[in-house]
Amino acid sequence: MNTLKQKLALLFGLLTGDTARNGPLFVAIDVTQRCNLYCLGCICHSPLFGDKSNNSENIQKDLSFELYQTLCNQLKSYAPCEIILIGEGEPLLHPRLVDMVRLAKQSGLKVRIVTNGTLLDRSMVSQLVEAGLDRIDVSLWAVNPDDAVEVYPKTGRKTFERQMSGLSLLAEAKHEAKLNTPKVLLHQPISKHSAGNVGGLIEIARKYQCNQVSFSPLRVQNDSLLEHAPEGEQLEQLSRLRDELKNDPLGSGLDDILLRYKIGENVLSHQPCYVGWFHLRVDVNGKVMACKMCSKNIGDLNQNSLAEIWNNTEMKKFRKAGRAKNRGDLLPKICECNYCCHVVSNHKIHSKIKWLPL
Ligand code: SF4
Ligand code: SF4
Repeated sequence: MNTLKQKLALLFGLLTGDTARNGPLFVAIDVTQRCNLYCLGCICHSPLFGDKSNNSENIQKDLSFELYQTLCNQLKSYAPCEIILIGEGEPLLHPRLVDMVRLAKQSGLKVRIVTNGTLLDRSMVSQLVEAGLDRIDVSLWAVNPDDAVEVYPKTGRKTFERQMSGLSLLAEAKHEAKLNTPKVLLHQPISKHSAGNVGGLIEIARKYQCNQVSFSPLRVQNDSLLEHAPEGEQLEQLSRLRDELKNDPLGSGLDDILLRYKIGENVLSHQPCYVGWFHLRVDVNGKVMACKMCSKNIGDLNQNSLAEIWNNTEMKKFRKAGRAKNRGDLLPKICECNYCCHVVSNHKIHSKIKWLPL
């Protein structure tokens, strides 16, 4: 939850031009490109993408801990901003992941990990709880062992079993430590295999006392993924399930996915993009982008500080492009915006400020 001061600073920046008056509220950091899975719809490791996938030995890299230390130091002045330890791979494979969580907490930051959940053994779970992790997002492409065979090529059912074991250990460790953190969010990309099983994610969330669920549309990036996209009837099931879960807090994740399908693939024709006002992405090499789906570097942490990058010329250009009338021509030159993952945040901001004379 962002503070009132952060929200007012964001609004002030939006009202007065292209300079942000707040710092970034979220910084997503790619800690590794390595992964132990080959999820069917993964934009980096899916075997469907052949040579374009990130599985080649020579591009398997981790973020250096020294660069991470520099970043945490620079982010202190923006606290309580949240850092999200994510990757074009599995963050728990980084050998210093627990130290990263600890350092973020010592720097006054909130810290979240996005993981596939397969490496959550007893030792890892207790270290993460003890380090003060605020939130863990566990992505499940399947909600039962049979679907796991379809969506986790090479690792199948075993993946699902390890994920369930990880969730169980998390619930147990929090209970033993008498802590409410880390909050646990379960995430499911919606594919043809999962659409009819959305209720399965809710059941798993209940079973392991998770705090939230979320869903995302499958991004069909090439023809071989087309046959895995959900169909109309499956999307109607999401809507019916939302009605059934009207009074259940876990049902709110369905509002977001239904909104995302309603806005559709071509998000920029529907609303501006405000991501440059609240978010940054840092890759394993220290290159900084406004959002994961943008190929253009806004800056490089090996050369400039985060504060310098946050309001540099490229960042200001990006902020202007996101709100320009011809944003639908400008942004797709540098970003792949179809089914954007910030669409709900952009929608929330837009619904609040669309009446203002900007
Ligand atoms: S766990 Fe994440 S990074 Fe690894 S293959 Fe699956 S989607 Fe890709
Ligand atoms: S994908 Fe496109 S629309 Fe979405 S946040 Fe990134 S730049 Fe903005």
